Amino acid sequence: MEKEQTLNIDELKEENGKNKRKLVCSFCPSVILIAGDGLYTEIEFALPTMTKQKGSDEVVEDQLSRYWRVANMYDFHNVGFSNTVDRNGQKKYLTCAECDMGPIGFFDTETKLSYVALARVKHEQ
Ligand SMILES: [Zn+2]
Repeated sequence: MEKEQTLNIDELKEENGKNKRKLVCSFCPSVILIAGDGLYTEIEFALPTMTKQKGSDEVVEDQLSRYWRVANMYDFHNVGFSNTVDRNGQKKYLTCAECDMGPIGFFDTETKLSYVALARVKHEQ
């Protein structure tokens, strides 16, 4: 998996901040988001390490800050939403709908905005 610090942001985003390449699951060929539907955003959010999202007790978290913000959840091609995960019931994790790996990002139920971590997906032409 790519380390967030080593990502070449200029190669991944257009001048207007949109994703230049499509986002693909790191574990299967499933397309998460096509090019141009995400907006580069820096926001601090800790995601648990990637596992199958099935009754895992995993509590190790990565503090991540580089995300693609997706305004319309229907822009996603293959993405699953977990049950709410924070105390206020406002956040859901995003997972690959095909292979169940995640979280690849999070969904804010209040703002209806989704955030996909750059470090949790592959960027393909
Ligand atoms: Zn997948």
